[in-house]
Formats: sequence, C-alpha cells, structure tokens
Amino acid sequence: MSASNENTPRLVIVGGGLAGAKAAEAARADGDTGHVTLIGQEEELPYERPPLSKGYLQDNESRDDFTVHDRQWYVDNNITLHLNTRATAIDTGRHTVHTSGGDRISYDKLILATGSTPRRLDVPGADLDGVHYLRTVDDSTSLRAAIEGAEQVAIIGGGWIGLEVAAAARQAGKPVTVIVRDDLPLANVLGAQVASVFAELHREHGVDLRVDSEAAEILGRNGTASGVRLTDGHEVDADLVVIGIGAVPNLDLAEDAGITIDNGVLVDDSLRSSDADIHAVGDIANAPYPALDVRLRVEHWATALNQPPVAVAAALGQDARWTELPYFFSDQYDLGMEYLGYATGAELDQVVIRGDIEKREFIAYWLDAENKVRAGMNVNVWDVVDDAKALINSERPVDPAKLADPDVPFDQTYAR
Ligand code: NAP
Repeated sequence: MSASNENTPRLVIVGGGLAGAKAAEAARADGDTGHVTLIGQEEELPYERPPLSKGYLQDNESRDDFTVHDRQWYVDNNITLHLNTRATAIDTGRHTVHTSGGDRISYDKLILATGSTPRRLDVPGADLDGVHYLRTVDDSTSLRAAIEGAEQVAIIGGGWIGLEVAAAARQAGKPVTVIVRDDLPLANVLGAQVASVFAELHREHGVDLRVDSEAAEILGRNGTASGVRLTDGHEVDADLVVIGIGAVPNLDLAEDAGITIDNGVLVDDSLRSSDADIHAVGDIANAPYPALDVRLRVEHWATALNQPPVAVAAALGQDARWTELPYFFSDQYDLGMEYLGYATGAELDQVVIRGDIEKREFIAYWLDAENKVRAGMNVNVWDVVDDAKALINSERPVDPAKLADPDVPFDQTYAR
C-alpha cells in the first residue's frame, strides 16, 4: 500500500483504457505520490484491446487474461476509480475536471488518455441490425456471438481490424468478403510488395477480397443487414457486416479546454501539452519521434503501454523523455508479425526483404532515400525487434545487399 503524500501533486487521469491504467501504475511505481484519480467512460476496469480482434474474439482468451489490474489492485494502491463516468470539461484555470456524475475533481497534474472512437461509415443502412463496429470488450463479445450465428460475413475496410476479424471469421468457418477501398489491403502502411503478402494470405484462406471497392449502401431486410451494395453496383450478400474504417481520436475535451490540437494533442518530448499541467498519451498524442525526425500520432497498443510512465514522471517533475519507436503486432491465421518504426510515401517502395517472402518467413525493412532504415517488420521470424531498433536509431545508411543477406549479422549491414 502506497501512502498518499500531501506534498505531492494530485494526479487525475482521464481515460479508462490501457494508457489510463499504466498512468495510474506509473504514479504508484515510486510508492510516494499524492492522490490519484482515474476517470473511465466504460464500466469495465481498464483492459488491453489487442485480444478483442484476436484471441478473445476467437474465444481463446478470457477477460481476466487482459484486464490490466483487478479491482483490489486499485484499492491496494489507493487509486480512486470513477468508472462509467465521462469527463465533460476541464477548467484549466481552476484545475478541475467536471464529470458526468456531477463531480468536480481537483488536479495539480492531469493526464489525458481519452483514446479514440471507431470512424462511422456514412452510408444508407449503416444503422441496421447486424452492422458491427469493434472497439470495446462488449463490442467484441457481441461480434463473437454474431460471427457464430452468421451465414455470410462482409467486412468494410482492409485495415488491421478488417483483416484480423476476417481471419477470426474464416477460422470460425464462415464465408468472408472484405471490401477494400485501395488496390491492396494495408497498402498505405506496408507498400505494395509486403501488402501483397497479406492479400495472398487471406485469399489462400478463402477470403473474397474485393479491392478497389467501396460500400455505397448496406442493404437490409426487416431491419437487419442482408448485404452490401458497392459503388460499382455489385452486391455482396451478408447477414453480418463489420465496419473497420479507422479510428477518430477523442479530442473534444482537450479542444474545449483550449489545449493546442494539431492532428491530436500536440505534445513535446515529455508528452506535455500546451498547458504545462496537462500531459497527453496514447491514441490522442501527437508526439515527436526524434530518431525518425517526425511527429506522429500512433494508434497502437505499445503507445498506450509505454507513453504513460514518461508522461507521469515528467508531470511529477522528473526529466523524462519519450524516445521509443512506434511498435505494433498482428496475428492472422498462422502469420504473426511485429512492426517497428514508421515508413511512408516513397519509402514504402524502398523495401529490402531478408528471408523467404514466399514462405512468409522474413523481415522487411523500409529505407529512406539515403538508405537509412525507417521501419522493420518481422513475419514469422522472432527476436529481431532489438536489431531493427538499433538499425533505425543508428540513423546510419545500410548496404541493402548486406541487409537482405541473412548470413550477414545486423551490425555488419551498415554501408560504412
Ligand atoms: P486502420 O488500421 O486505420 O484501417 C482503416 C482502413 O479503412 C484503412 O485501410 C483505410 O484506408 C480504410 N478506410 C478509411 N475510410 C474508409 C472508407 N470510408 N471506406 C472504406 N475504407 C476506408 O483502422 P481499423 O482497422 O479500423 O482499426 C481501428 C484502430 O485500431 C486503428 O487505430 C488500428 O491501428 C487499431 N488496431 C490495431 C491493431 C493492431 O495493431 N494489430 C489491430 C486492430 C486495431 P486508407 O488507408 O486509404 O485511409
């Protein structure tokens, strides 16, 4: 049990997801912080989201497996929980957070971890029964039941949710169509060559991938989805329609409080916003990534996991800096992958493959115009993330031929 110290700042955390829980944990890590309050919109204790489109959706994991801490942990650590509660406003002058429960909670330091909301598809029929989005554990529970009962599944969007849900539905034996706006799923993230690996993987597992396709309407019968009409007039039959077309960061609270917003809450290298007493973490934080020389808002699990300790330490007066690289992972069928870094634009075509892309056992590296590594992704090859990190953080040009050769150790792949 950590004692609250009257001389240390009262910390309020807005957001009941992984980032919120990690902020609470960080506040107690030194064992001597002041009052800590966590405000979360969902009724659930904070949990991790990756299983919602993977193991939990496939009934291989239970809620307890991905609940960050049980209720007793919050009691033992003297953290006041306001669950099922929305923070409705921040009064930055008075240093108070107003809640939907009518409370005004005082803070000295505020951590915003408000996460994001699924982007809504604005077509006729989008509110029919049988149309699902995926964000919360309740969404995943009802999607799992819907997959079980479905005759035919259509998924709109070829991003991470689209592909992971497609894999889950195929593994449940259901016919699946994925409607992808681009000519390949994940093309904007991985570039054509590596995105093709995922397209091929899903086709091999029987997914009907409709690329260069957009949904014009969700068709219904008696108030329930019966299919999707595409903009080219084709129709896809489906009694279950899953929409995964991205997420929108929850910025209203910060914006209404007058905090600077620019593709998220603009934060410095200590994750501090334009208000010195307010830090932002996770999906909403637009943070600098010095090794990549870019600012990014990274909507992935690892950001929610790793940013809070930095923000909390900085809020409590320590010299803490955000220096991690973006990281995420995915599991689809028998393919497991990890991605580190960030590549975009022309870099997506500057790809070096190390290993066997046909067998889906390889590492892909994306290079910039000077042959410096910007990102690495290992597919069914493990324990190589630290090597990718060293290559990216070195900011040194590599020799693409050496990098492509699995017999050349990573630290000998530099050009000079
Ligand atoms: P996402 O990964 O950002 O993918 C959204 C996809 O939908 C993109 O391919 C996007 O295409 C497309 N899209 C956008 N608007 C569209 C429209 N109106 N019609 C058709 N397609 C449209 O988002 P998500 O799959 O919905 O996932 C939601 C969030 O959860 C994301 O932040 C994601 O990173 C996260 N998530 C991560 C993982 C993981 O890390 N393994 C797993 C699940 C979810 P463009 O690229 O052309 O815009």
